Formats: sequence, structure tokens, C-alpha cells
Amino acid sequence: MTEDDKILYDDDADLDALRGKTIAILGYGSQGHAHALNLKESGFDVVVGLRADSSSRAAAGAAGFEVLEIADAASRGDVVMVLLPDEKQGEVWAAEIRDGIAPGNLLMFGHGFAIHFDEIEPPAEVDVGMVAPKGPGHLVRRQYEEGKGVPCLMAVHADASGHARELVLAYASGIGGGRAGTIETTFKDETETDLFGEQSVLCGGVTELVRAGFETLVEAGYDPRLAYFETLHELKLIVDLMYEKGIQGMRYSISNTAEYGDMTRGNKVIGPEVREAMKQVLADIQSGEFAKEWIAENRAGAESFNRMRDEATGHEIERVGKDLRSMMPWIDQSF
Ligand code: NAD
Ligand code: MG
Ligand code: MG
Repeated sequence: MTEDDKILYDDDADLDALRGKTIAILGYGSQGHAHALNLKESGFDVVVGLRADSSSRAAAGAAGFEVLEIADAASRGDVVMVLLPDEKQGEVWAAEIRDGIAPGNLLMFGHGFAIHFDEIEPPAEVDVGMVAPKGPGHLVRRQYEEGKGVPCLMAVHADASGHARELVLAYASGIGGGRAGTIETTFKDETETDLFGEQSVLCGGVTELVRAGFETLVEAGYDPRLAYFETLHELKLIVDLMYEKGIQGMRYSISNTAEYGDMTRGNKVIGPEVREAMKQVLADIQSGEFAKEWIAENRAGAESFNRMRDEATGHEIERVGKDLRSMMPWIDQSF
């Protein structure tokens, strides 16, 4: 490991770097509420920025925060953390954030998308950093409350003050990341790997794999309920084992028959064409093609996004799943 690969902990951070500064958290969703609460309990001065009609105003107010309009929070903060949906950040930046960012401020992000793809171009006299927890906001909050934390990625995009890294590291510790460990990276690498993971494996890859398996069984004449159990329901069991023990640990826990089938058939399903397709998906991310398409889609009112959503909701696997999940009292039935 080189010095750059070092994992950073609370001992590497100086929380005093951030003392006396006002931290404005823009957005109070998954990440926003967790960052705001954890930073407040780490002793920092935090205000929350929300739209006048935001449904989160009550929750943030009840948690004891001063809640301001986005533009007012952006001007109040010495540190301004943008925790809004990535595809909206460019628009909100131009309309409400940009004018509030003064020379010497630190502009922060929880994901590198808007900066890396030039949706936001901050002025030169501003520090720009990122702290991206590798977990959803409720976990970032719960771990913090338990005296622990979620590992984070951190990056500095612009260091106008000469102190950006110190400030970003202090922020990571302030939300609990320094307890678990923080890995230093770049906006480019964080953004590209995040998009690639969700497109090819975590979201896009897995959902297509599940549907293809489900449809293969149903088309072959099997009961869709059995198909659902074998291709979707049991996925959680396998993923939980991989999450806790890695791939070999998971294989240790399954039957020898399952393990032999896994090792001899898996690479037939996910063969060379899939790896080629993954390279193409990555190339579209790296060239900015994907970001361009997604931003244009939003500017055009997200019509095809909403149409694809509706179509997917009508898939047979959703109906079968809803019925089967109602037989399982331990599963939250609210969805
Ligand atoms: P979210 O959707 O949970 O919350 C977004 C917040 O922005 C909400 O408070 C919402 O009311 C507000 N908002 C939405 N549209 C707005 C607009 N037009 N103007 C003003 N406010 C608006 O989002 P999130 O999941 O917390 O994501 C925030 C950032 O954190 C993103 O950059 C995301 O990539 C990053 N991130 C998320 C996760 C995660 O697990 N959710 C993990 C790491 C990083
Ligand atoms: Mg992502
Ligand atoms: Mg089985």
C-alpha cells in the first residue's frame, strides 16, 4: 500500500478545523438528515436548507435545526453540503445556491456526479470536497448513535484555501466516518465506479438477471410462484451471506450441489458477451454519454423515465411477488 491507499481514522482528523464554522446541509432526505444530526451531535453549528414547501421542514424543525430556504442556507453556511438529488443539483445550484457561495467557503457533495460532469462549476476561490458514505442515510445515523460509523470515501476537487483536505476529513469524522475508516479518492473515480456498480451489477444487472431467470421458468411452463421464490425471493439469503462472508463464505453455506452448479454454470450465463457489454456501459459512463443522456432526459420532463417505470410496474413478477409477500408476515407489507 502506498501512502495514498492509507485508510484515515478519527486520529488523522482535526475536528477543530471545522469549529466556529456554520455548516449548511441542503436537503433533509436519506443522507441530509443523517449528516445534519451527526454533525450537530459532534458539536458543530448546523443549519438546514429546504424548499418552502418541503415535507421535511417539520422533521428538521422538530430535531432542533434552524430551517432556512435553500438560498439563505447557502449564504449562511461557511461549509455548504449539497444533499439534493443528483439530477436536480445543476438547476438548484444556478437558481439558489451559486449566489450564496462566497470566496473561502467549502462546497461539499455526497457524490461526485454534478461536479465531475460539469453540471456545477464552482468559482475559483472556493474549496470543493466530497464525503460519500458507503451506506444509506439511516445506517449512517444509526451507526453514529451506536458510537460507530459507516466507511466513507472522501475527495478534494479544489483546494483554494490550502486547507480543503483538512476540512473535508474533519467533516467525514463529524458524521462518524472516521470511526469506521475513510478512503481518499477522486471525484472521477467515485462517480464512475458508483454509476458502473449500480448500472451493471447492483441495480441494472441484478434486476435483469432476476427477470430473465423468472421469465425462463415461466415460459417453460413452471408455476410463476415457484419461479418467484427461486429467482427473486431467495436472492436475499445469498446476498446476505456474500455481504457477511464474501463469495467463498456464501458458497460454504450452500449445498455442494448448489456450489457445483454455481461454479460450472454461472460463467455460462454471465459469459464473455456480458463482460463486453459491461465494458461498453463503463465506456459510456467515462465518456460522459450516460450523464448527458440522463440530464437531457430530466430537462425533457423525464417522460421516458416515467414510462419505463410504469411498464416495469406492470411486469408479472410484481403481481406474483405482491401476493407471495402477503404470505410472509415478517416482510413489511406497506409497499
Ligand atoms: P433524497 O432523495 O433522500 O433527499 C433529497 C432531498 O432533497 C430531500 O430533502 C428533498 O426534499 C430535497 N429536494 C428534492 N428536490 C429538490 C429541489 N428541486 N430543490 C430543493 N430540494 C430538493 O436524496 P439522498 O439519497 O439523500 O441523496 C443526496 C445525495 O447523497 C446525492 O448526491 C446522492 O448521490 C448522495 N448519496 C446517497 C446515498 C444513499 O444511500 N441514499 C449514499 C451516498 C451518497
Ligand atoms: Mg449511486
Ligand atoms: Mg433452491
